[in-house]
Amino acid sequence: MRALTWHGQRDVRVDTVPDPGIVDPTDVIVRVTSTGICGSDLHLYELFGPFLDPGDILGHEPMGIVEEVGPEVRTLAPGDRVVVPFNISCGTCWMCAQGLHSQCETTQVKEYGMGASLFGYTKLYGQVPGGQAEFLRVPFGDTLPVKVPDDAPDQRYLYLSDVLPTAWQAVAYADVPPGGSVTVLGLGPIGDMAARVALHRGAGKVIGVDLVPERLFRAQDRGVLTLDLAEIGKDVGDRIRDLTDGRGTDAVIEAVGMEAHGAPLTKAAQRLTGMLPDTLGKKLMTRAGVDSMAAFHTAVDAVRRGGTISLVGVYGGSVDPVPMLTLFDKQIQLRMGQANVRRWVDDILPLLGDDDPLGVDDFATHVLPLEDAPQAYKTFQAKQDGMIKTVLTPGP
Ligand code: NAD
Ligand code: ZN
Ligand code: ZN
Repeated sequence: MRALTWHGQRDVRVDTVPDPGIVDPTDVIVRVTSTGICGSDLHLYELFGPFLDPGDILGHEPMGIVEEVGPEVRTLAPGDRVVVPFNISCGTCWMCAQGLHSQCETTQVKEYGMGASLFGYTKLYGQVPGGQAEFLRVPFGDTLPVKVPDDAPDQRYLYLSDVLPTAWQAVAYADVPPGGSVTVLGLGPIGDMAARVALHRGAGKVIGVDLVPERLFRAQDRGVLTLDLAEIGKDVGDRIRDLTDGRGTDAVIEAVGMEAHGAPLTKAAQRLTGMLPDTLGKKLMTRAGVDSMAAFHTAVDAVRRGGTISLVGVYGGSVDPVPMLTLFDKQIQLRMGQANVRRWVDDILPLLGDDDPLGVDDFATHVLPLEDAPQAYKTFQAKQDGMIKTVLTPGP
């Protein structure tokens, strides 16, 4: 089959690789019809080299048609249409029963002391072959894939794999009071969708911050008050206080992560880690850290006293000091983590009807064949060509 594989920093290629097959009796094989490119893939593209091997298949936002089922699969049959959550969660362990699917005890990567395995990610998350490919092996066939109707185009359901549950959890964890205010830092696919979900769920004021014009416009169109970081520079907190009676917003959703704009020195350190020999690079990534916390510091500044920060952007390492004094003094609630995808699916499904309140049907800015994936990664990273969300369509 054809699959998008990692070969080095900013080097991904579409290669011919062996087809996956049934390994465990509860596996299913999915023929992928649509598969997203995520901001998290950009971290692999730029930074996570020490935790990847050449040839690793990327991608964790797939959907498609069940091609084959293992002998113990009861609820799916070939021909069924499914979306695959990015966490590999068993659905039956203690953590899954709490709705903490990103901590699944069956797939935790104990070797590195990490939570549930993920499709198409690093060794820290199990190095499981990903979904930017023609076929994908999916474990836990009866409890992991989400069966969806045949009645609408792929993009109606595709974002159940990551964007929708991640945005939903970000808003749930932000705990915005009815009619209250929330700042969303970063208006990539995750921040954009989180802003939509917040408005849909009754937030009174949603302020979005980014520095890419078309991302700001897109959020504005949906009723978000936007601030252009390129224009206001370091004064984000002050501007947000101006808009909220001097207090800051009730909550801040941080949807940027460790590659935040505004920390040039850290950028250099990140590059350096990418160039170090593997073992040294790994140590730096997990111990000393390569994180840039520009957006996190903005979140701490912009949230009102007694408010909540919901951190959805991905971080690694631990080199930057956490502003403990301010967190404590401002009495801030801080919640974070990988989305528990399966946990939120039933809440979101009713919103995927023809009235399309979250605007999923035209959420993708680019729909491209899998063969175009290497160029799409490049364009997405450079934020060119108006690219915000790309959906790849493997197969003929
Ligand atoms: P993205 O890279 O498209 O979006 C990030 C946005 O932040 C960009 O629009 C960028 O211009 C903006 N930005 C950069 N620096 C900023 C700053 N200092 N202040 C405000 N905005 C700034 O990626 P995405 O797909 O939207 O993902 C966002 C983050 O969420 C990534 O870190 C990704 O890894 C993470 N993520 C987490 C989960 C989870 O389960 N927690 C799931 C999916 C994605
Ligand atoms: Zn993703
Ligand atoms: Zn589990």
